[in-house]
Amino acid sequence: MSDLLTFTDRGIYCDAGGFFIDPWRPVDRALVTHGHADHARPGMGAYLATEAAAPVIRHRLGQDITLETIRYGERRDIGGVTVSYHPAGHVPGSAQIRLEHRGEVWVVSGDYKTVADGFSEPFEPVPCHAFITECTFGLPVFNWPAQDDITAAVNAWWQANRDAGRTSIIGAYALGKAQRILASVDPAIGPILTHGAIENTNEVLRAQGLSLPETVRVTPDVTAKTHPGALVVATPSALGTTWTRRFGPSSSAFASGWMALRGVRRRRAADRGFIMSDHADWTGLNHAIRATGATRVFVTHGYTAIFRRWLESEGYDARIVATEYEGETLDAADEAPDATEPPAADREASEP
Ligand SMILES: [Zn+2]
Ligand SMILES: [Zn+2]
Repeated sequence: MSDLLTFTDRGIYCDAGGFFIDPWRPVDRALVTHGHADHARPGMGAYLATEAAAPVIRHRLGQDITLETIRYGERRDIGGVTVSYHPAGHVPGSAQIRLEHRGEVWVVSGDYKTVADGFSEPFEPVPCHAFITECTFGLPVFNWPAQDDITAAVNAWWQANRDAGRTSIIGAYALGKAQRILASVDPAIGPILTHGAIENTNEVLRAQGLSLPETVRVTPDVTAKTHPGALVVATPSALGTTWTRRFGPSSSAFASGWMALRGVRRRRAADRGFIMSDHADWTGLNHAIRATGATRVFVTHGYTAIFRRWLESEGYDARIVATEYEGETLDAADEAPDATEPPAADREASEP
């Protein structure tokens, strides 16, 4: 029997159902796991995404795209293949896509994290025969601190800056990490300001019922004088640019899984690094894979060679597949272009 999914130069393809999953080149029918730019790309004939992911996808790709929605857990027949979407815990609305055909079950996990962030729908293990997984952080050195510890560290940093008369500027992706920070920090410490690209995403998410604290969009008249002691949530590309000058004396921070690597922390032009990722860490990847009960595992983007060898030593039939997803980058690659975006800082590739 041929495989239910094949890996083509246009994307992950299901021949039986006649559709692609998160394709990177234009195709007729795209099943999309979530709204990040490397997964939901423009130019598809038709899109299928969760109800919760749809507003952001429309916001980014245009209101005129052909987009059908599906609820988590709902089963739909596409060309004889039973398709369903299940929470991936990555960003609001993100999904793993489950396919069932002639008794074979395959799951494309997209991007995922197994630990609840208090904002995204929590990750749900989906039993399957074959599991397609990213392994952005597929090394034992990547083990994320608990969400509460991250929150406490961010609050303490903000409060200390406020007390010292400094603005706190933290870089985070417009979709996902920015809202995770917003939803967890203590608004009693001071005002919260947001970069335009982040506030645009906030507006979309608030409109669909997600709860976020009060934020002030940064416009030319918003400064350290009007909002002393503020926390500014900025896009990663705005950090270290002239955009931050209006905030006077400041401390900058960057939130990323890559902050677990001291060398990256040092090279980054930020005063602080918080280890925070929307991707699974080493433990999370291993738990997720084990929980599927799958015997076949396809690994993509990240430490694929090392992770594949590890899985083989654990008894899995593991393969590396080439895709054009980007994992977690240290720059603005995960952000959609936006009119309010300041000039992009130099692109910096992911660590090895
Ligand atoms: Zn993503
Ligand atoms: Zn991705």
